[in-house]
Amino acid sequence: MEKKTLRDIKVSDKHVLVRVDFNVPLGKLTGKITDDSRIRGAIPTIQYLIDQGAKVILCSHLGRPRGRVSEGLRLAPVGERLSQLLGKPVKCTPDCIGTEVKRGVSEMKSGDVLLLENLRFHPEEEKNDPEFARSLARLADVFVNDAFGTAHRAHASTVGVADYLPAVAGFLMEKELEFLGKAMADPARPFAMLVGGAKVGDKIGLLENVLEKVNSLIIGGGMAHTFLKAQGYDVGSSPVENERLGFARGLIEKAARRGVRLLLPTDAVVAAEFSAGSTHKTVSLTNVPDDWMILDIGPQSIRSFGDELKGCKTIIWNGPMGVFELAPFRNGTTAIAKLLASLDATTIIGGGSTAEAIAELGLADRLTHVSTGGGASLEFLEGKTLPGVAALLDC
Ligand code: AMP
Repeated sequence: MEKKTLRDIKVSDKHVLVRVDFNVPLGKLTGKITDDSRIRGAIPTIQYLIDQGAKVILCSHLGRPRGRVSEGLRLAPVGERLSQLLGKPVKCTPDCIGTEVKRGVSEMKSGDVLLLENLRFHPEEEKNDPEFARSLARLADVFVNDAFGTAHRAHASTVGVADYLPAVAGFLMEKELEFLGKAMADPARPFAMLVGGAKVGDKIGLLENVLEKVNSLIIGGGMAHTFLKAQGYDVGSSPVENERLGFARGLIEKAARRGVRLLLPTDAVVAAEFSAGSTHKTVSLTNVPDDWMILDIGPQSIRSFGDELKGCKTIIWNGPMGVFELAPFRNGTTAIAKLLASLDATTIIGGGSTAEAIAELGLADRLTHVSTGGGASLEFLEGKTLPGVAALLDC
């Protein structure tokens, strides 16, 4: 990797400020953590620092408090869960900067873990305010960024602190950059990208960038409607981004010029309404009835996408194949997920809704890498430099 990591610096007895991504989902009614995988994801870095005798100061955001204290978004429940996972006490501070925090930090012993309060209780965090960044940096000797999920944001705790402290990547950040980086820079071929999700507009940068690199581009989900319409299909009442039809045509032509195999669905599950209880049926793409909308790919598309993917050595998947949140329309996403889990290939899942679907299916362990960052992995795959990564020391 081009960036320094935790292994490249001395941390024993040092105060180490670690930016983690503890932005865990909370139950709407209970306020309890419903999925602790982001906390688990940070354990290798935290445990390594404890074992090295560092004084570990963790900081994170949680939710969107918009620069104000929000009682429901305090990090104490995360601290409790972390303490259970580490098997040792984790002290939580009432704020992330200020006198009380400084006192807590000065009382730390080697191997102690302290969790600072939600960074986004201060508006200065998201504004990347230099004074706020300096106050955070003053707590420590070294900065470790392990929050890949927020690396696409230039905030005080992801970019600003690196102006004042030596900054390196944690193990989760390193893993994300290695898997995504190798797949994009030097993939085992054939290399396929499977793109789905709601809209073409959200994935223009991704489609343009990957077209330069892949052997196959497979498009499903809601965004396929625009590509299908661009090819002259009638997609019934499925939403189409008419302003993107030109882009879709251009991409199809460019794929043909570059010898990239571009696959679109050939059949679909269509429904009269956007609801789980709606009447639905499977039809060929030449037969989508007026007033019906496409909510999933059909069995023939699953087969043709699957046949293409079976021959590939590297596959990146971003975006579900249908409305997987509604049971009658999750078959395409489920079938493709199961297929990827069975392949002897490097299989990488971009974060966000695709990662959610994979987690629900319990397949995460059978894929090479499931990214923890939705927006961050999308920007990385678009070929953008993530500010939180750029801020780290070069090797
Ligand atoms: P994204 O975050 O861009 O990956 O989009 C994910 C969303 O796309 C999910 O909430 C899916 O329900 C939605 N989606 C996938 N396929 C379709 C479709 N055919 N029609 C409408 N929404 C879809």
